[in-house]
Amino acid sequence: MALAIVSAFAFGGAAQAAPASKSAPVRAETAFLSQADAFARSARIANVDYVLDFTLTGKETFAGTTTISFDLKDVDSAVTLDLNKATVKSVSVNGKPVETRYNNWFITIAPADLVKGKNTVTVAYERLHSTNGEGLHRMVDPADGRVYTYSHFEPAAAQQMFPLFDQPDLKASYTVSVTAPKDWHVVTTTRETKVDEAGASRRWTFKQTKRLSPYNFSLHAGPYQVWEDNSGKYPMRLFARQSLAKQIAPDYWFKQTKAGLGFFEEYFGIPYPFEKYDQLIVPDFLYGAMENAGAITFAEARYSVADMTAEQKQSLTEVIMHEMAHQWFGNLVTMKWWNGLWLNESFASFMGVLATNESTEFNSSWQKFYQTGKQSAYVQDQTASTHPIEVPVPSTANAFDNIDAITYSKGGSTLKQLRHLLGEDVFRKGVHNYLVKYSWQNATLDDFINTLGQTAGRDLSGWTKEWLYHAGVNTIAANYSCSNGKIKDFTLSQSAPGKDLPTLREQRVQVAAFKIENGKLALVKNVPVTYKGARTAVAQLNGAACPDLVYPNYQDWGYAKVQLDGRSFDTARTRLAQVDDPLLRAMLWQSLWDGVRDAKLPLNDFITVALNNAPQEKDYTLLGDVLGKIGQSKSYLDAMNLDNAYAKQTAAALEKMAWDGVLAHKGSTDFQRRWFNLYVSVASTSEALSRLAGILDGKVDAAGVEISQQLRWSIVAHLSRYDVAGSTALIEAESARDKSDAGQIAAVAASAARPDAKAKAEWVKRIEDQKSPLPFSRARTAMYSVFPPEQGKLDELDADARLARLPALDKAAGPVFMRAYATTMIPATCTPQSVQRLSRAADQMKDLSAFTRRSLLDTLQSDQRCVAIKAALTAPKG
Ligand SMILES: [Zn+2]
Repeated sequence: MALAIVSAFAFGGAAQAAPASKSAPVRAETAFLSQADAFARSARIANVDYVLDFTLTGKETFAGTTTISFDLKDVDSAVTLDLNKATVKSVSVNGKPVETRYNNWFITIAPADLVKGKNTVTVAYERLHSTNGEGLHRMVDPADGRVYTYSHFEPAAAQQMFPLFDQPDLKASYTVSVTAPKDWHVVTTTRETKVDEAGASRRWTFKQTKRLSPYNFSLHAGPYQVWEDNSGKYPMRLFARQSLAKQIAPDYWFKQTKAGLGFFEEYFGIPYPFEKYDQLIVPDFLYGAMENAGAITFAEARYSVADMTAEQKQSLTEVIMHEMAHQWFGNLVTMKWWNGLWLNESFASFMGVLATNESTEFNSSWQKFYQTGKQSAYVQDQTASTHPIEVPVPSTANAFDNIDAITYSKGGSTLKQLRHLLGEDVFRKGVHNYLVKYSWQNATLDDFINTLGQTAGRDLSGWTKEWLYHAGVNTIAANYSCSNGKIKDFTLSQSAPGKDLPTLREQRVQVAAFKIENGKLALVKNVPVTYKGARTAVAQLNGAACPDLVYPNYQDWGYAKVQLDGRSFDTARTRLAQVDDPLLRAMLWQSLWDGVRDAKLPLNDFITVALNNAPQEKDYTLLGDVLGKIGQSKSYLDAMNLDNAYAKQTAAALEKMAWDGVLAHKGSTDFQRRWFNLYVSVASTSEALSRLAGILDGKVDAAGVEISQQLRWSIVAHLSRYDVAGSTALIEAESARDKSDAGQIAAVAASAARPDAKAKAEWVKRIEDQKSPLPFSRARTAMYSVFPPEQGKLDELDADARLARLPALDKAAGPVFMRAYATTMIPATCTPQSVQRLSRAADQMKDLSAFTRRSLLDTLQSDQRCVAIKAALTAPKG
């Protein structure tokens, strides 16, 4: 077969490298690195090697000496080394001590001190450990006083640990030695070659790494508990803080890890690129997990849960697989610049689900992906501030602006669709070819798409343009009529969101028709269709029996919003219990929920359907989704502040359903936990709250639910949120009982939720204070808890002032802080006045940072949505 030659794309995205010339502009004096400055640097520099030496004592400061060698193309201008807020003791270049300029962000080495060709720079320095989860983070365990450190570098925080060229397209080797306290373990990309006694310390020496982008290198050190498993092809270790050791299930981690390594080696057709597989569970982690080459870090708060439920095990497995996929796609082959981050994350998200589905016990992982990741992508893709999957990233300040559902889940959905469009085998071969061709190098989107296109023998430039460079989700609908009981004139139509987002897309889906037969919804016919443009005839369905339901994205191949025709919508509303296939049932629940969100189906109607159908739900994965939607329904009602009989009856009915669910699933731990979690989240009557209080102090039977420490805290937080008498004392008592880090964080969440105006004002002050002694992990927790939906009146007290403070705070605080703050603390109270306030702010606050600006627009839109859902209620609103 002749291969299609795919031309270079002409529609922008990746900016061109700035030419390195004698007139190269001086690097901008900021904490962040622009793409232009980064590319100007990588055009002149090659063959980078780092020799890193660290002295760690457990104290707040660490010391380091870094020797960097590199080839330099010209000595026409200075060379800069990124190093954030360190105390530089000395710099020598090619063996000679030199005077350099250091502005707290980067060291500038004068051209006169450099030579054309190979240069060696040595920097000795000291620095404070970070405490915000970036750089070399340090944490003192409140349970036993032990000190733990770990590194987190993505996108550009290696410079908070050592001087370097902190950009992904300057891959380098790293040769590490570390002096650390005697009882510490030191973990990095490679295994240690020796550990020598050195007085009260030990000195660790490691083998040189293969060539890695800085953000993929890592170093973690502390008196971690270590578990080992050498039963597989690669040695595996797991690390966690000693005080958590009892609650970790290392065998489960190793089992899933081993299954994943086998799966990926076979799928990619390339051996695992690193020599060992270490995984560390670390505190105060900013994200879910991080794919550092051979030394992956996981967020303790999520992945150190004792006695995991099936749902928690599945989430853990998916994240193990996600990070493992990155070892090839991300670490072995790496993006050139941060505009390529989405492909990295989309691919790992997609592969994480595929590997979980195919190599572990969780064979409904695609259904879970549909219910969770994909829905979050649809939600975001319908916001006013949605963006194309591929967007320019002007500087490292913007690298994480798009760490969102478009980047992870729409991207993942798009790759899933591409796999159906090209065929599973062609897709896999294309990925293999790409990974082989660019091993140990950097690559761009064009490199990936061109390799896939060549493997498939088709030009993917049109597809790429439609899917990756244009935002928005299309709506698809089935159109047909029936005569004499048979389908006539069946077409599939697609529409674009509006004139701002007019793109229609090529897509391969399955269109399925169903009929109610003997009280069950039975499949009449299923037709795969590749459609393009506004309308596509589906002749194969003509003549089939007139259906009760047509679903135009059966089995979820496509990324599209489904608009059910009137008859199908009615079938969904009334016949949910007669649908056997859990994925189809999930899709019908979703159609109803979409109806609520679009203010087409009254929320009270949805709640009626939920009360009638949720108790019968037998699919564990879907039950999680349905109960989640019920929880959101209750949050909407709370935010509407309906102080009427309907609201009271509904609250009582939801509580009753949840408690009945707990009773009905005695002996079935996982199902029962789902129902109990719902019960805790919806409890608001005095009867339910006092039952929870009774369960907490052991006086009321919990119907067989094992009340773990985590559940105890969620009950305490809920009682505090509803200001149940004695709840402040409960927080103190629970804190005394649980002195762990997780316990301290839970106590913050519980305290911040208390509905007390004075306490709220203090929490807001502590959160916003940039010099606050409150650690960021606590401040972030408080942000998420301080204004639950039913506390809109308390939120209103500070709303005007808080919104007015947004621009100044946005300037003063960094992106890590604002990513948490802007998504939680912009006031929205589901009233026309609140919508107006946000609209005014959106008109006036045009100079916010990109992420904060987008959060403001999203908050406005979701507040408008809440008001519209309220207006669409057919139950009393007063
Ligand atoms: Zn990832």
